[in-house]
Amino acid sequence: MTVVLDTIPAARRWVRAERFAGNTIAFVPTMGAFHEGHLSLFRRARARCARVVVSVFVNPLQFGPEEDFDRYPRDFSRDLVLAEQEGVDAVFHPDATEMYPGPQEITVNPGRLGEPLCGRSRPGHFTGVATVVAKLLSIVQPGRVFFGQKDAQQAVIIERMIEELGFPVEMEVCPTVREADGLAMSSRNAHLSADERARATVLYRALCHAATRIRSGERDAARVEREMREIIAAVPGADLDYAKVVDRRSLEDARTIDREVLIAVAARFGKTRLIDNVFAGPGA
Ligand code: AMP
Repeated sequence: MTVVLDTIPAARRWVRAERFAGNTIAFVPTMGAFHEGHLSLFRRARARCARVVVSVFVNPLQFGPEEDFDRYPRDFSRDLVLAEQEGVDAVFHPDATEMYPGPQEITVNPGRLGEPLCGRSRPGHFTGVATVVAKLLSIVQPGRVFFGQKDAQQAVIIERMIEELGFPVEMEVCPTVREADGLAMSSRNAHLSADERARATVLYRALCHAATRIRSGERDAARVEREMREIIAAVPGADLDYAKVVDRRSLEDARTIDREVLIAVAARFGKTRLIDNVFAGPGA
């Protein structure tokens, strides 16, 4: 049976008892509306630790005033069934007042890492992400925490936060799970019309093109970015946010591609903003 923990004290008590019994704790933070991407993290967590805790919390702090907080997909009873099927031991499901009883004065600022890529069109987003992850880590105190490569900038920022603030936790980043046609799984895919869903495959096509060009010797990041922009612009209804080739740790523009780089894209299809990324390097 999967235990549902609604409050911070209940979560702390449950984890403390498990740790006291000698069980290692894996933790997977999520915003719910589970898909195979989430389930892949649960399976990895299950394989690594004796107990798996998943949080389901649509974090208001990481949504801008014009963003999709209200229409973000939520289906907790379905999520609970899936968590149960995957052998998740506990689901931490606080409401917003439990997590933020008052205005949040103290936040974790990811500095320059929060500025490029998604940070440009979502100011404050990564401060919201880093703050909620810091709070969740201090509530759950897991030995291992699991994130998806799908949210590349988030993974880079959380890795640095754990390193620089000294959280006593090991982090694992798991590969992006895709639909058969390459579209990265995302809770937001549920919002796409059939037409938009078909068009959205252009993101992975552009990324694969860029990776192939780099592997076959292209070293000019600006040229690769231009080609990705052209591929995406050729699809009507794909409203490009960015198509970038960046350093995989600093997230700064790569310019000359002489090492493994992160290739990242974001675009809107109708009202739905999607992101995706791959790594590529010379000879990789
Ligand atoms: P979310 O519920 O969208 O905040 O995602 C929760 C976790 O699942 C994050 O670490 C995401 O990076 C990860 N995730 C989301 N989509 C995928 C995917 N398609 N493949 C692998 N991990 C994913």
